[in-house]
Amino acid sequence: MTDSHNASFKAADLVIQLSSAPKHKPNVVNFGSVFTDHMLTVEWSVAEGWKAPLIRPFGNLSLHPACSALHYGIQLFEGLKVYRGVDNCLRLFRPMLNMNRMANSAKRACLPAFDQSELLECIRRLVEVDQDWVPLSDSGSLYIRPTFISTEASLGVKKPTSALLYVIMCQAGSYFHTEAGALTLWADPKYTRAWKGGTGDCKMGGNYGCSLLAQYEAGDYGCQQVLWLYGEEHQITEAGTMNIFLHWTNEDGEEELATPPLDGIILPGVTRQSILELTRKWGEFQVTECHLTMTQLCCALKQQRVKEMFGSGTACMICPIGHIVYQGENLHVPYQDKHSQLTSRIAKELSDIQYGRTPSNWTFLV
Ligand code: PMP
Repeated sequence: MTDSHNASFKAADLVIQLSSAPKHKPNVVNFGSVFTDHMLTVEWSVAEGWKAPLIRPFGNLSLHPACSALHYGIQLFEGLKVYRGVDNCLRLFRPMLNMNRMANSAKRACLPAFDQSELLECIRRLVEVDQDWVPLSDSGSLYIRPTFISTEASLGVKKPTSALLYVIMCQAGSYFHTEAGALTLWADPKYTRAWKGGTGDCKMGGNYGCSLLAQYEAGDYGCQQVLWLYGEEHQITEAGTMNIFLHWTNEDGEEELATPPLDGIILPGVTRQSILELTRKWGEFQVTECHLTMTQLCCALKQQRVKEMFGSGTACMICPIGHIVYQGENLHVPYQDKHSQLTSRIAKELSDIQYGRTPSNWTFLV
């Protein structure tokens, strides 16, 4: 059992081993393919608790072939970015929300608890070590991928007795490449991303691995992403790996920004929460977390009550939706130019915070 000393690792115990062979930093990269010079690793075992965190040269892991992260998907991850501001300072955006979500996912995966602020401080130190990798750009950033895996070396399906938490980082430019600037979505109830009582509200690898086939089928229909539906009523849940928003005149004739509620099948996005808080603060229209169905959407499109739809997530921030292929129809969702008014206003307010143009307690300085 863990005792009070190692119930969590401590950033104060961090050991740093610097790389003797820093890599060349490429100018243009595909998302997620080029990693920085260092990584953070923290080992845990039921016998010894957490070991001291270690920042070390980026490199391969050595895992037992029976490792239960590989066999049973006992693992989870996070995704956040560090931005280089106009003042050259490095900022994380609401990173404690990621730390909280990670702790929730760990609980669901039967992986051990840790002190979220200690992990954040270790990540801050890792970013500091690889700070030259954070691009000076008004759209680029460094993507941070905390990962937590069971390293249990046994084929029994059981609570892990050993685990590894690690953090890797890579440069991130634009995530989606859409010529027209708006996403096309494929909506077919034959695939389900998440279900009540499942793990859709956690960031576990299994949620993503099992979405792949649908993603490729969407491509067969000329679409870039899947619009994930749920249940007999074809509830709208998420778009690819983004939360989804509908800006419309609702059935009561009120202007509303609506997104599905966190009822267990929705990933609680940091961007989603930020958009809700931001637009509620504006107080210009209703901001609602409610179930939305394809029938409601089709009806609203027909009656020209839809102003716009967009997806939200750390990777793309905000991405307007242009078309939805559903039951043999290609539904056109209105949007103006590359970004509609609301989309671009939200994108500007958020990026002004992320890049330090607007001071905000949503940022965490490195
Ligand atoms: N939904 C899913 C399924 C996701 O994977 C993500 C990306 N983490 C999001 C929504 C958006 O979350 P966030 O705004 O925290 O990036």
